[in-house]
Amino acid sequence: MRVEALRKTYDHGKVVAVDDVSFEVPAGGSLGIVGESGSGKTTTARLIVGLEQADSGRVFFDGEETVPGAGRRSRRRRARIVQLVFQDPYQSLDPRQTAADAIDEILRLHSGLDGTGRVRRRVELLEQVGLGTREAAALPRELSGGQRQRVAIARALATEPRLLVLDEAVAALDVSIQAQILNLLAQIRRNTKVALVFVSHDLEVVRWVADEVVVMFRGAVVERGRTAEVLHEPQHPYTKLLLSSVPRLGWDPAHVSTSRRDFLATL
Ligand code: ADP
Ligand code: MG
Repeated sequence: MRVEALRKTYDHGKVVAVDDVSFEVPAGGSLGIVGESGSGKTTTARLIVGLEQADSGRVFFDGEETVPGAGRRSRRRRARIVQLVFQDPYQSLDPRQTAADAIDEILRLHSGLDGTGRVRRRVELLEQVGLGTREAAALPRELSGGQRQRVAIARALATEPRLLVLDEAVAALDVSIQAQILNLLAQIRRNTKVALVFVSHDLEVVRWVADEVVVMFRGAVVERGRTAEVLHEPQHPYTKLLLSSVPRLGWDPAHVSTSRRDFLATL
């Protein structure tokens, strides 16, 4: 997947949400998009999956430009290429649908499998995300946050997409569950070769899933590179600020606020 010079404004051009953003993700690769709240990450994610239309710029899959907003057939085609997983699985899960039904719905739309084939595939998908028969029969509200996110991931995988875009997909989970989901994603990527675009405000989270990272600030990419290198030796003052903002032993919120003020004063 490649995006080229994406730009998206709101409110008649007054808000520039995404400003000249370009990057690419190789087949089976993983890219992190990090930045503070309001930096344009979600808008970028929505542009990639075609939920928003860019003012200008282009999105390519396998070298082919995707045309947004065009009819049901092209939407279905895109669904087999790219899927989005939200922070809050309640946004993508129907509260009245069991996990099994939620997955079956997608298989019916996209897989061309018959009843028996779908049951087999559903079990396989649930297994892939670490869920068993009890969870399969449960409604979203009967599951934990982590389990719900697993269902959302299984559902996204049901179209066998080439790319999963995850927008703050672990942000609402507590730390140990975050770790489980991050491990799961790494494992799924190894097993299925699906590529990942992993959007997060949290640099530490990105460390575990993304080979490459782009850092966004006010809609623009301010730094990019191998994740390990960017985290180890950030070049841009904003990346340094983001890194020093991560709570850790001896962390001082007052110091973070001062650094942030100093950084903004340099612009
Ligand atoms: P992030 O996901 O990094 O927090 P967003 O992409 O959600 O950032 O938002 C980027 C900017 O675009 C913010 O200033 C936000 O207020 C604005 N924005 C996002 N969506 C809309 C919208 N639908 N209408 C108006 N402004 C929007
Ligand atoms: Mg967001």
